[in-house]
Amino acid sequence: MKTIYLEAGHHLSDPGAVTQTPDGQLTEAPLTTALRNSVAVKLNELAALQSKAVLVVTDSDAMNLSQTIAHAGRQTKAGDIVCSIHFNAGPLAASGTETFIAFPASEAERLLAQRLQKAMCTVLQLPNRGVKTELQSARRRLGILHHPAHNVLVEVCFITNATDLGTYLQKQALVAEAIAKSLLMSV
Ligand SMILES: [Zn+2]
Repeated sequence: MKTIYLEAGHHLSDPGAVTQTPDGQLTEAPLTTALRNSVAVKLNELAALQSKAVLVVTDSDAMNLSQTIAHAGRQTKAGDIVCSIHFNAGPLAASGTETFIAFPASEAERLLAQRLQKAMCTVLQLPNRGVKTELQSARRRLGILHHPAHNVLVEVCFITNATDLGTYLQKQALVAEAIAKSLLMSV
């Protein structure tokens, strides 16, 4: 039995990136938790359809990042998947989808990241910013990517870009399905 661990990236204690929309302030956490939950539902549906034995485990909104990293480590082993879900933030013009892996990453992680990246880009049709290693991230080391499992972190799109956000909100069910399919193909 393989485990797929889904992590919402942000929680009540760490709401993540912030942006202003016509409807008011929006933070990353409600988007990542909603997408995590949709991916979990899709994964269970697809696994049942394909008669694939997969255990889907998620973090909880009450955890902080270090608790999540520890929880993911306890729940997964080599050959499982840890997938962290984020939305990007940047200058107003910054746009598109990117996926992070550790440095160094395994070949399986690179393939998983490429599959996820391609699937999200196909659905969203936003700029493809590619698969990057953690060295290209703002923090240069991402703790969630260092488990014995295959680890990957998706940055779905920029919540600071109105086009990105609008596109995502229209297509969230398709994005969840694309992520779920890609993860399931990789276990
Ligand atoms: Zn984030």
